Amino acid sequence: MYIVNLLQNNSSVNPYVSSTLLEHIEQTLQKKEKILLYMNKRWEYSSLICESCQYLFSCDECDTPLSVHTRPERLVCHLCDKHFPFPRHCPSCNSSKLKKVWVGTQQIETVMQQQFPHARLYRFDTDNIKNKSDKIKAFSMLEEADIIIGTKMITTGFNIPNLGLIGVILLEQELQIPGYNTEEQVYSNINQLLGRGGRVGQKTEIILQTYIPENPLISRITTDNYKEFFKQTLKERKRFNYPPFCEMVTLISRHNEKEKSKAILEKCTKELEMSLWDKKSQISLGNINTWRKKQNKYVHQCIIKWQDLESSLKNIAPTLLRTPGLQVIWNV
Ligand SMILES: [Zn+2]
Ligand SMILES: [Zn+2]
Repeated sequence: MYIVNLLQNNSSVNPYVSSTLLEHIEQTLQKKEKILLYMNKRWEYSSLICESCQYLFSCDECDTPLSVHTRPERLVCHLCDKHFPFPRHCPSCNSSKLKKVWVGTQQIETVMQQQFPHARLYRFDTDNIKNKSDKIKAFSMLEEADIIIGTKMITTGFNIPNLGLIGVILLEQELQIPGYNTEEQVYSNINQLLGRGGRVGQKTEIILQTYIPENPLISRITTDNYKEFFKQTLKERKRFNYPPFCEMVTLISRHNEKEKSKAILEKCTKELEMSLWDKKSQISLGNINTWRKKQNKYVHQCIIKWQDLESSLKNIAPTLLRTPGLQVIWNV
């Protein structure tokens, strides 16, 4: 496993394609083996990092990496919806060398076309594979292609014969999908990727590219010590009070009018606090004041954490869970 620090990338081709990756692609092509370049396509927001100390801007309540939003420029936590003003300095080392990082599949595809014009390229993602016949076609494309640009879809149910090299383009972008167990998912995706190889007796090489190799979030994932990874992850979960140390529920309200969407959520959380009044001090209720717009509706959400949430909610507040306009997601 190679971990490449993209800040020290000395290839002039593209900031997200290191010379180490280029060299290994070249060597793998010469050996007539396949290359998989893996990336998170769904995420359109940048992460923000500190170039001096490798700090990754994360939510102080959820430990989830924050996304850069523009107009107005701010940082947003997609797990609890908390907004933060755009920082001028790193909270950890006070440096002003902050960098937005993001990469798209199109960008990588173009670089590969330019650098390896004779290689057969195949982009494997939800744009190309929509139904069963596309899936059947995908099998033969995977067979024929030299360089495959793949998204999460490829980790499930596809084998790539003769896979010599896997390159994860930007590891911190993988961590951007909001969820308290994102790190475990990324860790298991990488291990699943290594299982896609299908080569007998030979190991598939893997290159992980990141701007922040020494950041604990990243170094935990890049360890190949499974036990150590889970020990550290459990520690973090305890610190931020995530399952299994509590049960977690997300209440999401949607309405055409902003005030109504907020009112639905307010009513529900108040009702909940009232029904659990004797345990109020143990419940952690997230912020409900921020909102976003999705498919022309206003969306408010609130995360609730507590020890015994599922059974309590189902017993005490069954009608609340059926409030029109309210969606309940259990993360127990
Ligand atoms: Zn810093
Ligand atoms: Zn948060």
